[in-house]
Amino acid sequence: MATAKKSDCFGCRNDMYNYPNSVSSSGQCWNFEDAKLHKVKMISVRDRPPWAVEKGSLRPTCYHKDGFVFVSPEKTC
Ligand SMILES: [Zn+2]
Repeated sequence: MATAKKSDCFGCRNDMYNYPNSVSSSGQCWNFEDAKLHKVKMISVRDRPPWAVEKGSLRPTCYHKDGFVFVSPEKTC
């Protein structure tokens, strides 16, 4: 798996920790150091199967977003 860049974490719940600000002085999301890129489907927790989502996209393993789950592209429901 490829190593993740900070730009891959854009839109992640923890993206704000990737930059020094009033909340974070480290400038890095907690799990970024070990993050790798993997292919996942981003599915809303409100969607019922079958999931009508894209085939999957590369996201860092540290990526989290409220209201969504990330599953492997082979999963259909
Ligand atoms: Zn991250």
